[in-house]
Amino acid sequence: MAKAAPSHGTREAHPNEKVRSPPTVANRGFLCEGRNRLCVAEGVTTCDVLVVGAGPGGGNAALQCARNGLSTIIIEDHQEIGTPVHCGECISEIACQNLNLDLPEKVISKRVHGIRVIFPDETEKCLTEEGYVLEKHLFEQWIAEEAVSAGASLHLGHKLQSMEREGGSEFEGWLCKGKGDGFPILAKIVIDASGVAAICSKLVRLEDDEPLNPQGKVVAGMQYEMTEVPTDGYLDFYIWPKYAEKGYLWMIPKCDGRANVGLVTEDRPRAKKALDEFIENTHFNELSQVLPPWKEKGNPAFGGTIPISGPFENTYSDGLLLVGDAAGFTSPLFEGGSHLALKSAVFAAETAAAAISEGDLSAERLSEYQKLWGGEFPPYDKIIRGKNALFDLTDDEMSLMGRCFPDEMGDMGFSGKAMVGIRLLLRRPGLYSKRIVPAMLAFGYSRAKYYGW
Ligand SMILES: Cc1cc2nc3c(=O)[nH]c(=O)nc-3n(C[C@H](O)[C@H](O)[C@H](O)COP(=O)(O)OP(=O)(O)OC[C@H]3O[C@@H](n4cnc5c(N)ncnc54)[C@H](O)[C@@H]3O)c2cc1C
Repeated sequence: MAKAAPSHGTREAHPNEKVRSPPTVANRGFLCEGRNRLCVAEGVTTCDVLVVGAGPGGGNAALQCARNGLSTIIIEDHQEIGTPVHCGECISEIACQNLNLDLPEKVISKRVHGIRVIFPDETEKCLTEEGYVLEKHLFEQWIAEEAVSAGASLHLGHKLQSMEREGGSEFEGWLCKGKGDGFPILAKIVIDASGVAAICSKLVRLEDDEPLNPQGKVVAGMQYEMTEVPTDGYLDFYIWPKYAEKGYLWMIPKCDGRANVGLVTEDRPRAKKALDEFIENTHFNELSQVLPPWKEKGNPAFGGTIPISGPFENTYSDGLLLVGDAAGFTSPLFEGGSHLALKSAVFAAETAAAAISEGDLSAERLSEYQKLWGGEFPPYDKIIRGKNALFDLTDDEMSLMGRCFPDEMGDMGFSGKAMVGIRLLLRRPGLYSKRIVPAMLAFGYSRAKYYGW
């Protein structure tokens, strides 16, 4: 990580604050000259963009904003970036190419060949596409370091708690307050990358005083790090509803025989018990659970929640853009969210830079953001219909579907999919009424090129 540097200007640096581009304020009340500079005046730090949260979405938003020449502050509630890890830690090669990410070796735990889907009767089918399992906390720290190197100021232990509009009829910025010595911060644009907390959707109210977005539905994800786990370099995804209702279980291999073994399920209260039962009843029962390297003590289980209601209705407002999980961007079937978080951050930074250079921070100007992500991200409604149709199937029907897929699902073109559909309907005509075709297509949409991972 970048070293903490002393803050210039009118206030002392917080011990956890890392300021790369110190404000060069000649005296109080003056705006700084030049881009990429912060200003402190009357005890308020002024910037072009405040990014809330230093996960993949926030780190990349700050990096792209700083590269676009915007004075950028990124705050993170925790004292350290990336921990506790709440991710299975995989990202595809296609995602890295799409994002121009040149991953340093230190953040890569293992190179992997794709996803193997294991149906309830243990039928196995592969979706081969290269990718990585990361040391996710190191990955997030690396992105934040890049942002700091590009000129962003990083404030750890800073939690956004309130936002007030500045300006009269014309919106001029957000006065943001919260926990941490760096507040108050006056930002022309706030990028909410606070993950599932979606803090700005709660703080910003619509004209009828309702929150900007209602709280969406979430699923629980939980995993253990295990050791000496056998692998051939594929991510194993088990669609086994008996343990993971409306979800799935995984074995995601890492270096030195380590692996994340976990699940997501809509049955949140039973998540840990179901994962323990899965481990107990499978070959994993002979393996040891260990604390992950970033965790010194406590329960070895770790995880979090994942939004599953799809993109929020309002992903922008006056001076506000929502990215990543804070905007509801996760892939519906296997709930990957890093690729979408990182890419939405690129769109948000691009939109923010254009709006600021034109001096128009209005919602209307920022609506371009929705056009950008809407034109690029996969059709959420279609995939969610497919996911629902899949989970309407019995275990037996799911397995039959699995058996009708070719061994390599990644190669199925239109005719391949049609063949699978015909084969299935010939064997079990009743499946037509269960919307088997959308269920099949949901697998296709879980591929990297559709932001599945
Ligand atoms: C168990 C599990 C496994 C997963 N596996 C994968 C996987 O293998 N691949 C994949 O692509 N995705 C996976 N996901 C989803 C993925 O982790 C998320 O989609 C991704 O992290 C979203 O990134 P983000 O930057 O939007 O949010 P986050 O990574 O959640 O980052 C948000 C940050 O904001 C901070 N924050 C929150 N509120 C505030 C506040 N008020 N002020 C300041 N900071 C704040 C938080 O501390 C956090 O650091 C998984 C999720 C879970 C729970």
